[in-house]
Amino acid sequence: MERTLVILKPCTIERGLIGEIISRFEKKGLILAAMKMIWLTDKLLSEHYAHLKDQPFFQRVKDAMRVCPVIVCCWEGLEAIEVVRNMAGKTNGRLAAPGTIRGDYSMSVQENIVHASDSVATAEAEIKRFFDEDEVYTYTFSYLSNLYANDEK
Ligand code: UDP
Ligand code: MG
Repeated sequence: MERTLVILKPCTIERGLIGEIISRFEKKGLILAAMKMIWLTDKLLSEHYAHLKDQPFFQRVKDAMRVCPVIVCCWEGLEAIEVVRNMAGKTNGRLAAPGTIRGDYSMSVQENIVHASDSVATAEAEIKRFFDEDEVYTYTFSYLSNLYANDEK
């Protein structure tokens, strides 16, 4: 099983879409391993968006993530990183395919509803960045046999 980090961005909180977005991941069959609400700091965001540090929009993107608290969560499943990236859709909400989260809820490159880890290495680093070890739970899920074949897990 893989774990991936998702952040519900301030636009999602302010538009009242928390339940709707969480619900998509639940319905897909991903397992919630961790979740909390936090107000991000510029320092944490500089780390999180380090790959954008030379972009002219670096500060704008960081500031937009601090408009209000965000919901950070960790979802677990087989190939969860790719599954969640596919569910999120293209970065630009206008270009994201209908049926994806960004395609269905966003008209913007920046205000694009969710952050989602993009590789095994970033998922591992991002989960560590936002959660202490004891905040990420491992538990038996009674309907696992309805989600996967016996030899698939
Ligand atoms: N972003 C932006 N303008 C751009 C590229 C990115 O405002 O031209 C913002 C957008 O909110 C995006 C975030 O910066 O989600 C991180 O960019 P990244 O390229 O990692 O896209 P993502 O992985 O979120 O699809
Ligand atoms: Mg990214």
